[in-house]
Amino acid sequence: MNLALLERVAGDLRTALADYEPERITGADAARMLQGFAEIERLGAAGKLLSARRVESSNIWRQTGHRSAAAHLAEATGSGIGPAISALETARRLGSLPATDDALRGGRLSETQAKEISGAAILQPETERELVEAAGQQSLAVLKLRCRRVKAAGADQKAAYDRIHNSRYLRNWVDPDGAVRFDAKLTPDAGARLLAVVKVETARLTTAARRVGADDTPTGLAADALVGLATGGSAASVPGEPGDSRIGGEDGGPSRRGGGPAAMVHVRVDHAALRRGHVEPGEVCEIPGIGPIPVEVARQLATDSILSVLLTDGVDVTSVAHVGRTIPAALRTALVERDPVCVVPSCEVSEGLEIDHVRPFAEGGPTALHNLARLCHWHHYLKTHRGYDLVPEPDGWSFRPPGSG
Ligand SMILES: [Zn+2]
Repeated sequence: MNLALLERVAGDLRTALADYEPERITGADAARMLQGFAEIERLGAAGKLLSARRVESSNIWRQTGHRSAAAHLAEATGSGIGPAISALETARRLGSLPATDDALRGGRLSETQAKEISGAAILQPETERELVEAAGQQSLAVLKLRCRRVKAAGADQKAAYDRIHNSRYLRNWVDPDGAVRFDAKLTPDAGARLLAVVKVETARLTTAARRVGADDTPTGLAADALVGLATGGSAASVPGEPGDSRIGGEDGGPSRRGGGPAAMVHVRVDHAALRRGHVEPGEVCEIPGIGPIPVEVARQLATDSILSVLLTDGVDVTSVAHVGRTIPAALRTALVERDPVCVVPSCEVSEGLEIDHVRPFAEGGPTALHNLARLCHWHHYLKTHRGYDLVPEPDGWSFRPPGSG
């Protein structure tokens, strides 16, 4: 590779483009041309990244009067400083990732793909080949997801989660038009819960808007939904608040306290990881569409009534276990039949009974009749928060205080 060759290639391309008239070629040819230019773009990105690394290490950027190598790159490419910093990070990682470097030089990776792969593979080099292969076969969205999983498995997930939690915020300001604007940063689980209730309420408002022929935009209705939910104008059901350990209403269906929506947050987690308490390489614990969460957070959510957990074994969903408000009606009916009063011996409470997973869901206890029991609020509290145990006996249950085996 030398500069004269590069200038000749660029010159040829410039000449060819000067009289390129895409309107005069067929769609099929246009598609082939598109592919060709995309490859040139990828090769260009490869040459750019490799050169940028040398620009940085050589300190030539100082002599050209730039504050940093990134500033030099930003000016040379007409990009922003943010993308330039990110490109330099990618360029540096390529030095220790031979398969990625090779695929990039071969025109098989775009800059974005190289950035995603290198960011993950630098933490877990044994995943590099598989990620490079995936880039050739799967969409960028899928590749990004795989890279996020690799990063999550390699990183201290709890620490990453805590960093987000510690830097969470809700800010608001008034813009020059006089509109009130918001920006928020939330943990993935908090965000998923919020989005789930907003989504359900938005769907309700959309139906109502259609009925009267209003032409509100989906994002406009989502804004109405958020305001309605937050101000109680449209009653929100936010289950799982302190003292509410109910996992099912007595009406047999999803409870809608105050008429608000019953929203579900889905978590996809490997059964083994849920039991173990952390993910190992190849396993996932994530909120689909949002991203990985620590298993500990998933466990906390598992006691919450708005969670549904997809238990997976690798990529296949082996079972869908719903906790809380989605205990199937038939199961609920069978429970009401079997447990007319709190199952704790000598407790006669029959009102407001709550359904308990005898072996906690987070520990692998199934949502099945043999693992469910109806308890009064007090006994449910003792079992959930005070270490009491509900133990099956031939003729019912025994309720044992902590430490009694
Ligand atoms: Zn009781």
